[in-house]
Amino acid sequence: MTVTNKEDIRKSRMYARQQLIDGWDQEIVSKGCVMIVGVGALGCEIAKDFALMGIGKIVLVDLDTIETSNLSRQMLFKPGDEGRPKAEVAAERLKDMNPFLNVDFYFEKLQKLAMSVYEECDVIIAALDNFNARLDLNKICLRIKKPMVEGGTVGFEGHVQVVIPKDSGLEYKNREFEIENVVDTKMWEYDNPEYLDAQKEIEQLEYLIERLKQEKLEPFRRLVRKQVEEEFDKKYAEDVINITPCYRCLVPIPPADDKLVAACTLKGLPRNRNHCVIKAEVIFEKEYGFKPDMNVDDDVVNLKALAQKELEALRGRVFKENVSEEKLETLTPEEITEWKENIKDTFGEDYKFEEMENILGNKIAAIQSVSSIISSIQSQEALKLLFRLHGRNIGPPMDPPYINYNGVYGQFDQLHITKRGDCLACGDIEGEENIHLVVPFDADIGYIFKAMRIVGHEIEPILWMITNPVNKEMYWNPYMSGEFKDPTIKLTTLKIKSNDIVTLTPLGKAKVESEIKKYNVIITFM
Ligand SMILES: [Zn+2]
Repeated sequence: MTVTNKEDIRKSRMYARQQLIDGWDQEIVSKGCVMIVGVGALGCEIAKDFALMGIGKIVLVDLDTIETSNLSRQMLFKPGDEGRPKAEVAAERLKDMNPFLNVDFYFEKLQKLAMSVYEECDVIIAALDNFNARLDLNKICLRIKKPMVEGGTVGFEGHVQVVIPKDSGLEYKNREFEIENVVDTKMWEYDNPEYLDAQKEIEQLEYLIERLKQEKLEPFRRLVRKQVEEEFDKKYAEDVINITPCYRCLVPIPPADDKLVAACTLKGLPRNRNHCVIKAEVIFEKEYGFKPDMNVDDDVVNLKALAQKELEALRGRVFKENVSEEKLETLTPEEITEWKENIKDTFGEDYKFEEMENILGNKIAAIQSVSSIISSIQSQEALKLLFRLHGRNIGPPMDPPYINYNGVYGQFDQLHITKRGDCLACGDIEGEENIHLVVPFDADIGYIFKAMRIVGHEIEPILWMITNPVNKEMYWNPYMSGEFKDPTIKLTTLKIKSNDIVTLTPLGKAKVESEIKKYNVIITFM
């Protein structure tokens, strides 16, 4: 492979992270056009989002000029811009942010724009500050059948409305779901006696349930409540009112460190796409004496060749595993090709460099639109806490203290989380640690200590004992002799299965010196 087009590589690099999102197609974004009407606080933020995400074109419309009071919110403007048209300055800054972007701007009333300007856009975003402009824009969008996303804020509150006009070519509601809705309504319209009887019976049962609650549960409930009220302050208040679960409460056993996977890959055979790249990096380092730098084109090219070789070897191995020698003889050339194509599909196409970068950097899919929602919520919560710390109340911290935002459905879910009594960070347990180790299938006892070192727990084999926490069987005891002191005994020989837990406890001076008095180690074979 030769690196032919530097600009394309740069572009690819810019958008590498969002490409990781399931179903993402940068092409669609690069050809898209959005109009943003109103380049104020919302408009700047939205324009910035789309510029960063690599939209093909942005059309900005705003008839205002920049004022000093704008500078506390509208991040596309800076001191010294005062007096200049917002749309024009925003266009410049967006171009600085993303040189591949096309921006048209209109320092003009939205009502005066030519219809052709609207028609060029895929989506129209209203980021306006007054009703009349919104009403006029709404009318225009309905007339030209363009979807509009309207938004506004007042103080700490805000809203978003999605408007999809008739005949826009977009489907708003889900067809299946709507069919079910109509079916539910229609069922009442038929005088089907069985259906009506069943409904009646359900109503009666519901009535009965309600009556039982009132007659039997409520009196008892009132009694218990009185008792709880009396002891609440002493017994529960501290845990319930003033503390939240900590982060570790939600992650009692952190997932295995990636360095362990890399260490296993060195010995073992890659089983998937990611392993191939990790192994390629190891081979690269061995061959060239340094780690590949993903910003150096030559390194990328060489790494890609190595990963590609591993990927092809993997495809070959899987073919052999699935098609035995005898079976191969019975297959036609077409069938063999089909097998190979299927395997190719399973493990994916040839690598692109941004994918390798994502794998090696252990990157997580990310996109600006969701980032700004989440970061904004964090700022909001921090702001409230800051006020509280200084004795002022502008609102309580969110309750429950955990919120999930689902950008696919546009849904916020408040999740109830609980404080763990056995939390290693905030619970009653002290001096314990839970570790998840990934080890090669042929690992021995000595490898456990090696893996512990890899994840940053430097413990000396001669000062630690390994046992089975369930049946107390001894796996390693440096104070004993023979098999208990043989680091080369395979874990499988000791009948340790994948995802079994073993316990590491200190001996001798480690008993005194080690902060951790017990490691609970989950062992997963790779
Ligand atoms: Zn905790």
